[in-house]
Amino acid sequence: MKPTILDHLPPGLLDCAANELSTLLSGPTLIHLPGRKTRPLVVSVLQHGNETSGWDAVRRLLKGRYQRDPLPRSLIILIGNVEAAAKNLRYLPHQPDFNRCWPGSILPSTPWHELWAEVTKHVSQCHPFASIDVHNNTGRNPHYAAVNHIDPQMLHLACEFSKTVVYFTEPKGVLSDAFGQFCPSVTLECGLSADSSGADHAMAYLERVLHLDSLLSEFPAPECLELYQMFATLTIAPDMDFYFGDPRQEQTLDNVLYFPKDLDTHNFSEWPRGFCLAHYQANHQQPVVASSHSGEDVTKACFDIQEKTIATQKPLMPAMLTLDPFAVRNDCLCYLMERLNVNDLVGGTLHEAPQTPLPEVIDQP
Ligand SMILES: [Zn+2]
Repeated sequence: MKPTILDHLPPGLLDCAANELSTLLSGPTLIHLPGRKTRPLVVSVLQHGNETSGWDAVRRLLKGRYQRDPLPRSLIILIGNVEAAAKNLRYLPHQPDFNRCWPGSILPSTPWHELWAEVTKHVSQCHPFASIDVHNNTGRNPHYAAVNHIDPQMLHLACEFSKTVVYFTEPKGVLSDAFGQFCPSVTLECGLSADSSGADHAMAYLERVLHLDSLLSEFPAPECLELYQMFATLTIAPDMDFYFGDPRQEQTLDNVLYFPKDLDTHNFSEWPRGFCLAHYQANHQQPVVASSHSGEDVTKACFDIQEKTIATQKPLMPAMLTLDPFAVRNDCLCYLMERLNVNDLVGGTLHEAPQTPLPEVIDQP
């Protein structure tokens, strides 16, 4: 399996909606377009076939004045899963999730891993200015940017899109982490695919970044950045049922969790300590489980589980909360985030190397 690499836009490509691209492209495709500044901006779209804001942003950008004017900076467009896009799916049954197969992936190797490794090598040799991977969410979330490294230039690139920035190290094998090894790299989350404001926002952002000469090397000012770290995934115990809405007294059943009916409007709203996440009847040992991204059970540190209520033990910020029972059961209820203090970053506290001696120091006579 090989990526297609082009130095021009195939005729008619910009007229194709995401679900029509497979009529012109046979698979993952890189398109190099020249611009005034030579170090290219990499823009990745459709890593997930049903997340269309990125492609809509790119084609609207290129169909505008850049039909006649030169681009301010060279561009590499990476178009991902055109087959899944044709069916409006994240990925097809015979495919892995593309954005889990980049270098750093912990999934068993597939031909896709080799393909993305080859793309990574090719892109790194182009010495990109920056990389932007555009996605959408399935629940109601504000638009935000995400980074995999605490780095001033990456945070500036992220802040240009949104003051809200998420730092994550799980899942592994994502494009932004692979490209972040050689250039400033961000993931954009542009809300729901069906909402055109995601493409509007992404297009304005791409236009702005194309015009940047450089990215600042100091950390952004604290007032310009609200930085959160995803640290845990919250799931519901398999033997607990769940329901969104208040229980009527006579209906309250054992082994059923009752969450607020508008729970997905809480995304990116901080839950204070003592916030009641759910009511329930049974004296279940652990109706919900918070698993840290290093694999520990952090439920007790996050939640106070009483006989009838589950309340937060400390301030927590949820992301990707969904009311979709299938997504809750098969993926998770939400991710949990903590606020990172920008002053600590500026002071370098989070940046210091671990205080453990190097082996060669120990071994010296
Ligand atoms: Zn995605």
